[in-house]
Amino acid sequence: MKINSHISSLPGSYLFQEIASRIKTFEQENPKADILRLGIGDVTRPLSPYVAEKFASAARDMATAEGFRGYPPGEGYHFLIDAINKNDYAARGIALQDSEIFISDGAKTDAAAIQELFDKDCRIAFTDPVYPVYVDSNAMAGRLGTFENGRWSNAVYLPSTAENGFVPPLPEEKVDVLYLCYPNNPTGTVLTKAQLKPFVDWARQNNALIIYDAAYKAFITDEDIPRSIYEIEGAKEVAIECCSFSKTAGFTGVRCAYTVVPHQVTGRDNSGKAVSLNALWKRRTGSKNNGVSYPVQVAAAAVYDEQGRKETEETIRYYLDNARVILDALKQGGLTVYGGVHAPYIWMKTPDNMKSWDFFDYLLRNAHVVGTPGAGFGPCGEGYFRLTAFGSRETARQASGRILNMLSK
Ligand code: PLP
Repeated sequence: MKINSHISSLPGSYLFQEIASRIKTFEQENPKADILRLGIGDVTRPLSPYVAEKFASAARDMATAEGFRGYPPGEGYHFLIDAINKNDYAARGIALQDSEIFISDGAKTDAAAIQELFDKDCRIAFTDPVYPVYVDSNAMAGRLGTFENGRWSNAVYLPSTAENGFVPPLPEEKVDVLYLCYPNNPTGTVLTKAQLKPFVDWARQNNALIIYDAAYKAFITDEDIPRSIYEIEGAKEVAIECCSFSKTAGFTGVRCAYTVVPHQVTGRDNSGKAVSLNALWKRRTGSKNNGVSYPVQVAAAAVYDEQGRKETEETIRYYLDNARVILDALKQGGLTVYGGVHAPYIWMKTPDNMKSWDFFDYLLRNAHVVGTPGAGFGPCGEGYFRLTAFGSRETARQASGRILNMLSK
């Protein structure tokens, strides 16, 4: 059979595989090295005990004749959709219908799959640097052309760098879909409502769609920073929003997320007629998956109970305090750092304009600290380096101490 050459021609291996392989080589050469990992964006703190008990209890129910459940509803159980709608939207003044919320096993799954709704010729814009999933999924579908000098020939890149204060410019050419992610992975920066509004206005004026990834919204601590794009007037006509329990409640291993596709968001068919993307997503999802398990959805709903909320918020606070420890230490050491206030990511400028991957190797060899090279997130990530606050307080302190120590030599 003939393979999908759009997959085989993807550049290199997935960023974190490359990092893992370099660490493995280093460990083999230095088996005694005590490596501190501030690289991959996985959480480390345990689940809220309250949420875990609900999870376990739902699993035990499944072992009873009355409590057993088979396939869940494709869009998710109503009890979870209702909890999301009330707590994440209605409580913030956003009116959504339950039929606009779709439960899934991950924001990665949805952010990667959403492009199935777009025509092959749609022109796609990404902020640069970017969470690689948006780019790779469109590239695998053959929508981005060829990869040359670190860029896809048919993609539009919107630089997000220190020079523009990490506020990307609006696309200047014809673009059909724009992916935005705030709080941002990898830069850890945010957009205020006033900074996000021009993107919504642009999408409305240009019949474009925004895919808004709010996977890190739980880290926002300022009311002026939107937790949902629907806080911006008119966004319900032009935006799809992906959210996740992964970072909000430590569900990276449990797997639960949701995507909001408002009924008003439309695309056009071959005849130019408007088609509801909600109907299209529902149709596609119904054919392609069988939902998320009952105990997982019970656990996700428990995050909204008073006790679940309190315990999960404590964990978020813990990570944000880690971020502050790293930020303060690196700033005191004279490094230029961004993000880390409303996000678990710290985006640092590499010292002496080192290339990102060179700094990765230098840090691993000399400080035994692992981070993520900014260049792995796109051309504009070159010269930057991402550190995460997802480890322990001790790791945050030790790693920043080691970085400063290394640089002072
Ligand atoms: N979206 C962004 C921006 C992420 O950084 C991540 C994980 O790192 C995800 C989505 C993945 O979310 P999930 O665990 O729900 O698949």
